[in-house]
Amino acid sequence: MEANDAWLRMSGYTQEDVRSRTLTRVKITPAEQAPLFEHALQEVAAHGQHTPFETELLCKDGSCLPILVGSVLFQNRPRQIVAFVLDNSARKELEQRKDVFIWTASHELRSPLTVLKLQAALLHRQLAKQGVPASAPALAGMETQITTIARLVEELLDVSKIQAGRLEYVREPVDLDALLREIAEIMQQTHPSHTILVHGAVQSSLIGDRDRLGQVFTNLLSNAIKYSPDAQTVEMDLSASPETVTICVRDHGLGIPREQRDKIFERFYRAASPQHRAIPGLGMGLYIVAEIVKRHGGTISVDSEVGKGSTFTVTLPLMRDA
Ligand code: ADP
Repeated sequence: MEANDAWLRMSGYTQEDVRSRTLTRVKITPAEQAPLFEHALQEVAAHGQHTPFETELLCKDGSCLPILVGSVLFQNRPRQIVAFVLDNSARKELEQRKDVFIWTASHELRSPLTVLKLQAALLHRQLAKQGVPASAPALAGMETQITTIARLVEELLDVSKIQAGRLEYVREPVDLDALLREIAEIMQQTHPSHTILVHGAVQSSLIGDRDRLGQVFTNLLSNAIKYSPDAQTVEMDLSASPETVTICVRDHGLGIPREQRDKIFERFYRAASPQHRAIPGLGMGLYIVAEIVKRHGGTISVDSEVGKGSTFTVTLPLMRDA
C-alpha cells in the first residue's frame, strides 16, 4: 500500500507503482522463493510477526538485490502488515569473499601437503632400508598428522564445492554390505578405544558413488566414537525394505540437545555445550554427509537424548541414479 523513500531508492519503483498496485502484478522476488513468503505469512497470521529471512528483491531495472525481510502485523489494523526490508548486499558480498577465500586457501594448502606426504613416505622407506629404526616412530607420527591435515583440507574443499554446486559424483553399483563392513573394520583398527558392532545386512546393491558413500559412514562412525568418550561400543544396524536401505549409527555418548538437532547439518555449526566444545572439530562433516545423502536421493535424521547418546539414521533408495 505504501513504501518509504529508502525502499523506493533500493528497488527503483515509484510510490505510484506501489499505490497503483503494480507490485501485486509483478513479482518482486524470484519465483522459487515463494514458499519462504508463504511460510512467513502463516507465521504472521499465527504469531503477529515472523522470523526475519534472507531473500532477493527483483528491482524495477531487473537486477536482484540481496535483502533481509522481517514483518509484523499492525496492532489496530489486523489485515495490514509492515515489512522491514534491509539491504543485505554488503553482508552477502563478505560471505562470498569468505567462500572464495576458503576455496583458494584449501587449494593452496593441498599441493604442498601432497608433496610433504610423499616425501615423508619416501624418507620413511629410505631410513628403514638404511636400518635407522629409531626415527621410525617420529616419522610415523608425522605422517599421521599430515594425513589429518590433508583430510581437513579435503573437507574444506568439499564444502567449497558444495557451495558452488560443483561436488562431482560417479555412478557405479555399490555393494553396501561389503562397503560398510570394510569401513567398520578400518575404523576399528584406528579406534581401539571402542568396539564397533555391526548388526544385520542390507543384502542389496545400489547405484551411487562408492567413495562418497564411504565418506558418509566413516564420518558418522568417527563422530559416534568422538562424541562418546566414556562409552565402550558404537553400533551400526543395517536393514532393507524392497525400495530402501536403512543404516543406523548409534552411540552412547553426549547426545545433542533438541533445539540443536537440525542445526548440526548446517555448514560450520557445532553444538554449544562445553563438553561438545572440548572435542576438536570444525563443523563440516555432517554438512558434507547430508549433501551426499541428499544427492543419492536419501534422507538423514538424528534421534538423541542428552547424556544417553545419539542415533543417526540414513535411508537410501535402491537402484536409483545418484
Ligand atoms: P565436527 O564434529 O567436526 O564438529 P560435524 O559436522 O561432524 O563437525 O558435527 C557437527 C556437530 O554436531 C558437532 O560439532 C557436534 O556438536 C554434533 N555431533 C555430531 N555427531 C554427534 C554425535 N554422534 N553425538 C553428539 N554430538 C554430535
